[in-house]
Amino acid sequence: MNPLGQHTIALPFPVLDNSLVIGGVPIDQLAARIGQTPFYAYSRGLINERIGQLRSALPADIHLHYAIKSNPMPALVQHLATRVDGFDVASAGELKTVLDTTMPQEKISFAGPGKTKRELRQAAAAGIIVNIESGREMQLLADIGASLGVKPKVAIRVNPDFELKSSGMKMGGGSRQFGVDSEQVPALLAGMSGLELDFYGFQIFSGSQNLRAESIMEAQQKTLDLARQLAADAPAPVRLLNLGGGFGIPYFPGEQSLDLVKVGAHLASLMPSARYDFPEAEFVIELGRYIVGEAGIYVCRVIDRKISRGQVFLVADGGLHHHLAASGNFGQVIRKNYPVVVGNRVIGESDRTASVVGPLCTPLDILADKMQLAHAQEGDLIVVFQSGAYGFTASPREFLGHPQPLEILI
Ligand SMILES: *Cc1c(COP(=O)(O)O)cnc(C)c1O
Repeated sequence: MNPLGQHTIALPFPVLDNSLVIGGVPIDQLAARIGQTPFYAYSRGLINERIGQLRSALPADIHLHYAIKSNPMPALVQHLATRVDGFDVASAGELKTVLDTTMPQEKISFAGPGKTKRELRQAAAAGIIVNIESGREMQLLADIGASLGVKPKVAIRVNPDFELKSSGMKMGGGSRQFGVDSEQVPALLAGMSGLELDFYGFQIFSGSQNLRAESIMEAQQKTLDLARQLAADAPAPVRLLNLGGGFGIPYFPGEQSLDLVKVGAHLASLMPSARYDFPEAEFVIELGRYIVGEAGIYVCRVIDRKISRGQVFLVADGGLHHHLAASGNFGQVIRKNYPVVVGNRVIGESDRTASVVGPLCTPLDILADKMQLAHAQEGDLIVVFQSGAYGFTASPREFLGHPQPLEILI
């Protein structure tokens, strides 16, 4: 039996004596060491491996930034501080996390709609680059800079006039709350020339969770073309060109991993003319889930095994409140199963199908809906893969007042 049912995703964790091994430790021993379930575990080794793949596939002068919001666990961010080239934050809270690392200020950028005056002041005082998303932010930053006696570093976040096709999440093109519409950028740049702001360049982010190399390649080409057009009105040479990211990971049955080598080769073919047109620029790709998503698992324990009119329900001590995305309630239109196994019986005798549900009093609390799983009993460990991004901090952990999961880096 394929322990993942209809899933075709290759397990990134080895199996020893029918037990999943995480960072060299069998899962039940790891659970004992942590002292509780549920927990999230993130593998340093797998994160490093993924960064290695990115470094070898992408052109050498592409700077790799990590988008903190995908997983802001402080230990993980500290680990990444010496392995990526920059961080992208989306709040003052995330800014605090990255300022606790050794990452230089000018390698940190701050994007997100609705930045408050206080956040802008913190960013200006910290000396990081603010990706401004409106005329209001630009004017406020100039005023703040004058009052602090600093020249705030800024880039313009552009809402492009194209979208990243076949993305799990479109974040550019059309009408958006993100960034400044590309056709409004020249006027914004004209307004900037009278202000005491240190212009760095542009961030053009068009979408997220994309598994199609061709779509990403097309978006990168269009991004560079748009940047060329916008640079004509810039008050200073472009020193920073953030090309966005959008690299996706497979979550559901039938999904295939992104062809990273193809994306990298295409980007390499675009770089000679890009370097020529932007001789002073640092080129950035910013990624969240692609760096950490596949390196993490969520683990909970079976509390009860019930049969309701013929269907097996494994009731676990974790669920939607810890892992909203795996329950299907974080932007999915039609619920599909994440890859799930019984971690201490990966290839055990199979149930026909079983559903893994959480302890919440809502039918939405499902971690696996009628999946092929090994025959599990009370005390067994349920493992949800692809859980390193948008898990712990993207879940309503107070809902129903159950205990919190722990997070570890191993
Ligand atoms: C959310 C976000 C990211 C990270 O997206 P992933 O899908 O996790 O790679 C990167 N950049 C911006 C601007 C974002 O809002």
